[in-house]
Amino acid sequence: QRIAVLKERDPGETRVAATPETVKKLIALGASVAVECDAGLAASLSDEDYRAAGAEVGPMEAVLSGAQVVLGVQGPDPALLGGATPGAWVVATLDPFGQRARIEAYAAAGLEALAMEFMPRITRAQSMDVLSSQSNLAGYKAVIAAADTYGRAFPMMMTAAGTVSAAKCFVMGVGVAGLQAIATARRLGAQVSATDVRSATKEQILSLGAKPIFVENVAGIEGEGSGGYATEMSEEYQKAQAELVSSHIAKQDIVVTTALIPGRAAPRLITDTQIATMKPGSVIFDLAVAQGGNVEGSVADQIVERHGVKIMGFSNTPAHLPADASALYSRNLFNFLSAFWDKEQGKPVLDEEIGDAVRLTQGGKVVNPRLLA
Ligand code: NAD
Repeated sequence: QRIAVLKERDPGETRVAATPETVKKLIALGASVAVECDAGLAASLSDEDYRAAGAEVGPMEAVLSGAQVVLGVQGPDPALLGGATPGAWVVATLDPFGQRARIEAYAAAGLEALAMEFMPRITRAQSMDVLSSQSNLAGYKAVIAAADTYGRAFPMMMTAAGTVSAAKCFVMGVGVAGLQAIATARRLGAQVSATDVRSATKEQILSLGAKPIFVENVAGIEGEGSGGYATEMSEEYQKAQAELVSSHIAKQDIVVTTALIPGRAAPRLITDTQIATMKPGSVIFDLAVAQGGNVEGSVADQIVERHGVKIMGFSNTPAHLPADASALYSRNLFNFLSAFWDKEQGKPVLDEEIGDAVRLTQGGKVVNPRLLA
């Protein structure tokens, strides 16, 4: 089985889909691995490191030639994949809802596209879950970036020159990223509160030493849908949530928003009118900025100032931690390939539960039910 690892072509992408560590492990499974020149450079991994791990390192055409599996962080341009074996797997985060034309092109090229963000959220797939590994790092980085932009300190400090009070930090959306944002803000010494539409998160918020802020006594309160993901909420709920949030955020110094609903634009959580009630100098980090934004007026990769409040967010937050994000992402891909490695056939063979969930294209067609619905 020949596995190709491409250099990412998106200008903001610093991650790489395999590290020397996972190259070694893939070779131990019986695969051969070819890595494009400079693929790991932005993640501080040199071509020499990959060669030492046993990879062939070369230009893209050579790496792709005869490849049966192509690994990427983002989906590679189908036009580049001509050299791959017919029916080859393309394993990456493929943005299936956003990149429909590209998915069709994989199908037309006879490639089998496997979208890692469609990995089911089941216990046995946890180690393969790239959304979790990357969101966790993103939640950390959001707080660090917000702290860096904030003109005051996070922890309370009692000094000879007087006391500096602790920052108040509010986390909206307590999934994987939100939980890590709470933990990080707590470690920095902030007073932390958090909210979500899923009431199951209340306990998790408390267990991290933060204060839950929740809408009570409103119809349609249980915001949990399939796979533990959030659903869209009733109008009545949204109104009650907006009122609660308005009175709460006026007292906050830092707000981190992480709310996402799979397959839809991110829900709007903070309006410009609400921002106007916040204290000048406060910072809002919108982790959903690339999915349409939770915060009115947020612009990816810019610091926008509204009513004295700084609003920020990155188009690709994990790419701001290239080394760790690559290390975890690569292990997710290795865990995926190795879990399904068939020793007799010398290649990975997917089972139904996970295969049908992640497979977007096969036999020249788009086959994933979530894209056909
Ligand atoms: P996500 O990135 O899809 O969304 C982030 C958070 O935003 C979620 O907690 C969601 O409930 C919340 N949200 C959505 N709309 C909101 C609104 N209007 N107001 C406030 N909050 C809102 O979530 P995620 O991090 O991918 O986690 C989704 C679920 O999957 C969680 O239950 C998580 O525990 C679970 N999970 C399971 C596994 C596994 O078993 N393998 C792995 C990771 C996550």
